[in-house]
Amino acid sequence: MKKIIDKLFCTRDADDVELKELIESSGYDNYLYEQAESIRKKYYGTDVYIRGLIEISNYCKNNCYYCGIRASNINADRYRLSKDDILSCCKSGYQLGFRTFVMQGGEDNYFTDEIICDIVSSIKSMYPDCAVTLSLGEKSYESYLAYYNAGADRYLLRHETANDDHYRKLHPENLHPENRKKCLFDLNRIGYQTGSGFMVGSPFQTTENLIEDIRFLQELQPAMIGIGPFISHKDTPFKQYTNGSLELCLKMLSILRLIFPTVLLPATTALGTISDNGRELGIKAGANVVMPNLSPVKYRKLYEIYDNKICTGEEAAECKFCLQKRMSSIGYNIVVSRGDFIKTTTTNFN
Ligand code: SAH
Repeated sequence: MKKIIDKLFCTRDADDVELKELIESSGYDNYLYEQAESIRKKYYGTDVYIRGLIEISNYCKNNCYYCGIRASNINADRYRLSKDDILSCCKSGYQLGFRTFVMQGGEDNYFTDEIICDIVSSIKSMYPDCAVTLSLGEKSYESYLAYYNAGADRYLLRHETANDDHYRKLHPENLHPENRKKCLFDLNRIGYQTGSGFMVGSPFQTTENLIEDIRFLQELQPAMIGIGPFISHKDTPFKQYTNGSLELCLKMLSILRLIFPTVLLPATTALGTISDNGRELGIKAGANVVMPNLSPVKYRKLYEIYDNKICTGEEAAECKFCLQKRMSSIGYNIVVSRGDFIKTTTTNFN
C-alpha cells in the first residue's frame, strides 16, 4: 500500500487497480494523510482560506432524491433572500475578514439572470477586492457568461457522480449527467475558476464510481473540488440510507490532494456534521478551505439539504471565531485573502 501512496505522491497518478486497492484498504490511512498534508503545506503552508457562504434561496425546481430542499418536499419551509439581505451578509462578512462570498441556492426561477447579474455587480462594485462565487445549479452557456461579465469569479457545480448509471439512481429522469458535465466545461471555457465534486458514500456508490469521479476530475481540471459525506434527510426518498463514512471521506480528500496538489479543497460542513472534529481532520488530510455560514440566522435551519446540519444557530461572527479556534488548535490559521487557485503545469511534479 505504501508503494501506491508513494507513487501517487511522486507521479500524481495511479492506475485503476491501484486506486481500488487504496480506496478499499485500511491500515495505511495515517501515512496517506501525512503525505497529503505535506503536499498541502508545500503550496499553502498552514493557511486556511475562508469562504462566506450565503444561502440565498431554498426554493428548488429539481427533485434530486438525496436533497432536503427538493421541490416535492412539502415539509420544507421555503425562503429567499432579498438583494438587501445578501448585501448585508456581505457587509458583516467583509468586516469579519471574508474576501470571498459564495451565493448558493436551489434552482429558483425567481432569480432571473437579470437579478443575479445585478446582485453580483453590486457586490463587486462595493467590494472590488473580493471574489464572488456562484453555486446556483445548471444554467445555459449564455447565463453563465452573463454572470461572468457581471463580475462573478468562480462557480461551484458538483458533478455528483461521473457514472451515468449511478447518476440515474440519484436523480429523476429530467436531469441528465451529460448536461451537468457540459455545464462544467462551459464554465471552464468562459474563464471561471470552476469547482466540481461529489458526495462520498451516496446510495449505490461503488469504488469504481469513485475512480470514475477521479478520472472525470482529471479531465476537467477544476480549480476547486468539493466533497463531503452523503447524509440522509428525513423527507427524501433516500431517508433510509446510511450516511457516508468519515474514514472514506478523509481518504478521498487525501487522494485528491495527492493528484491535484494545488486544488482548492474544502473541509465541508457535511464533514463537520458527521463528526464533531470532521473539519479539523479534513484539513489534516489535505483540505485547505472552510466555508463558514454568513446567511441570516433565522434562515439557516431552513436551508436543510441534509439532517442535523451544524452551525444553524450561530451568528456569522461566532461561526468564524469557532472555526478560527478549531484551526489554530491543529496548528493552522485562517487568513484574510481571496484565496485564488494556484495554477501549476502538469510537468511541474512535487
Ligand atoms: N442547486 C445547487 C446547489 C446544491 S446544494 C447545485 O445544483 O449545485 C450543494 C451540494 O450539496 C450539492 O451539490 C450536493 O452534492 C450536496 N448535497 C445535497 N444533498 C445532500 C445530502 N443529503 N448529503 C450530503 N450532501 C448533499
